[in-house]
Amino acid sequence: MKPEEEWIVVPDGLPAIIDVETFNKAQAKMVYNKKNSGQFKTREVYLLSGLVECGECGSSMYGNTRMCGRNKSNYSSYRCSSRANHQGCVNKEVRRDYIDNYVLDELYRRLFSDMSIRKLAAMLSGYNQKKSAESSGELTKANAELEETTRKISSIVQLVTESGISIETVKDELRRQEDRKRFIEGYIQELGMKNRVAAISEEAVLELLNCSKDFVRTRNIPECRNFINSYIEKVVVFGDRVEVFFQGACA
Ligand SMILES: [Zn+2]
Repeated sequence: MKPEEEWIVVPDGLPAIIDVETFNKAQAKMVYNKKNSGQFKTREVYLLSGLVECGECGSSMYGNTRMCGRNKSNYSSYRCSSRANHQGCVNKEVRRDYIDNYVLDELYRRLFSDMSIRKLAAMLSGYNQKKSAESSGELTKANAELEETTRKISSIVQLVTESGISIETVKDELRRQEDRKRFIEGYIQELGMKNRVAAISEEAVLELLNCSKDFVRTRNIPECRNFINSYIEKVVVFGDRVEVFFQGACA
């Protein structure tokens, strides 16, 4: 196995955490864990379980811990499932601490540096501004249309009262306009809600980032486990090197 300096990290991306839905889920989970910490601590937690792939045969590699040496100390590694099942792969197991630390170091250096957090915040606020400009344009249009529809309705009502024509003759048109009015009102409400979501998430993302950064720094593996998928796409272990794939930046 090559020294760690020669392992490879690709590509240089920002996390796709700007997807509001994914972000909200990650945050909810973090809050849940804070409230419920202390439970389920006995089971071994592997930071990268489900993310490690054998570069030699393509099988997934899973975490394994066994007693080892004269002192019977624990030895944890990621092993190729094909090799473990004697299906022919000869790829060596790789020590869990090596890979976990390598990935967390890279994560810290690349994503949780002050510069990257600022970059991410700028990206996010740009995204929010664009969204809010879009919806404020739509809101102006919708308000104008609402005004127009309200005006039409009152002129129909006025026509009936002033000319004395039967309400029956304008009934269908009146209903059409009233349906239209209800639809626009609902749409306006929806636009307002979207704006609120965008406004909340910018601050919340920064808070989450700083919280995550701390977990990475202190090597809190169970907590890191909850958000690692937002940042790491996969880790491929070859016989002589490891390649770490970060999640790409969101378009
Ligand atoms: Zn394999």
